[in-house]
Amino acid sequence: MIEHNTLFIGGGWVPPKGSGRITVTSPSTEEVIGSCPEASRADIDRAATAAREAFDDPTGWSRWSPQERADALERFALALDARAEATACAVSSQNGMPIRTAQNVEAVTPPLLLRYYGGLAASQKEERRDAMFGGTTIVQRVPIGVVAAIAPWNFPQSLSFLKIAPALAAGCTLVVKPSPETVLDSYVMAEAAAEAGIPGGVLNIVPAGREGGAYLVTHPKIDKVAFTGSTAAGRTIAENCGRLLRPVTLELGGKSAAIVLDDADIAADIESFFAATLHNNGQTCFLGTRILAPLNRYREIVDVVTSMAAKATVGDALDQQTQVGPVVSARQRDMIEGYITRGIAEGATITTGGGRPDDQQRGYFISPTVFADVDNTHIIAREEIFGPVLAVIPYSNDADAIRIANDSNYGLGGSVWSADPHRASEVARSIQTGSIGINSYMNDLASPFGGIKDSGIGREMGPEGLASYQVTKSIYAAP
Ligand code: NAD
Repeated sequence: MIEHNTLFIGGGWVPPKGSGRITVTSPSTEEVIGSCPEASRADIDRAATAAREAFDDPTGWSRWSPQERADALERFALALDARAEATACAVSSQNGMPIRTAQNVEAVTPPLLLRYYGGLAASQKEERRDAMFGGTTIVQRVPIGVVAAIAPWNFPQSLSFLKIAPALAAGCTLVVKPSPETVLDSYVMAEAAAEAGIPGGVLNIVPAGREGGAYLVTHPKIDKVAFTGSTAAGRTIAENCGRLLRPVTLELGGKSAAIVLDDADIAADIESFFAATLHNNGQTCFLGTRILAPLNRYREIVDVVTSMAAKATVGDALDQQTQVGPVVSARQRDMIEGYITRGIAEGATITTGGGRPDDQQRGYFISPTVFADVDNTHIIAREEIFGPVLAVIPYSNDADAIRIANDSNYGLGGSVWSADPHRASEVARSIQTGSIGINSYMNDLASPFGGIKDSGIGREMGPEGLASYQVTKSIYAAP
């Protein structure tokens, strides 16, 4: 049982101004595993003020050289490296992520990002251009200001650091709002920041729910909002930021297609196919949860996908053998079960799963579920389920597969599977999406990631992820 009684604001641990608390329940055991103060409006005011003052300090973080900031980010990375296991355990025990995924992703991505963005910002040179009418223009990249970073629960560390690392490297200061489901890992992050000597006010953390998030988004001391979460919340945030003319990055939901071409052998590379469709209990935004299978091999591919899902080891998230853990909450489980009921009502056929596993006496478990005979117009093919539920949709030829893949409100991830990489690449180029994999799906932290259509606005990762925390300023020097 982990109990926190303070908040990390202004570089220190301060008692909260409100009396609300956030309680965290393990989805594997349904037991309460920890709690912390819920940041009130007064706490968010204090955090935004601390971040504002740190940003405006004429000798502070935003005025440090990029190399000085990179050095501090290296110390932050080292402090996180030392806490890798604590981070992985905190994440898995709160959101049900299989511990091996937490160890391989959540514990290592934050230090990687701090080092990558620290180095990238330090390597940027001030640009001098010959001005069109004579003289020289100096193009500076200056930090955008105070950032409100709002993260979801599914990859709480990686998705927070996709904002924190480039923002800090650029010279911004932040107020980070973790999701109420995953607050305990944010204390590990804060301890590492304090140990690394990140100056007071540069990084502030306000655990809170939806209302706290909404308050932070429109706070007058914030210059930019970086949000990852649902499309519905993103739309509301975009409306508010539009009114305020406040720059905003939105990484939202998805319903991507995993397109199996008629020459593909997915059984030979089933681990990659699993990672591209069922990673993190189906609670990953870019997953190819619509599996498009050619009509002439439809039953065979349904069988391969069914066997993959049926064989997956379901269990406690902290067990090293677990491949599919519980979903994050009872509410999420109920929502997923609602989609399964709708899928059946729409005439799709369950080939495996379809409910709670018999061998789990407690926890918010859903057996990995596969639907066959799905039409792309079915609700289970159109809406993001965010759980271990796959829909296999038949297509007649490559052009038909492309048409079905693009017939979606979303455009975030996806994958194409084929024995012929050239053919797969041609299909990949025709898919309307922000990113797509060939014979796997693996994010590249050094290349842009983000969505089109209802999947969001803006990009994280790569140099593009740094650019969204910088604004250019042109200084015209007379000839
Ligand atoms: P959510 O939208 O309910 O919440 C996300 C975060 O936003 C939480 O911290 C929440 O407290 C806060 N929030 C909610 N409403 C808000 C509002 N109106 N104003 C300000 N803050 C608000 O999403 P979730 O259920 O936590 O996460 C799952 C969703 O996130 C899925 O739709 C998933 O696809 C999406 N996601 C997208 C990406 C991506 O990179 N595109 C990555 C991971 C998850």
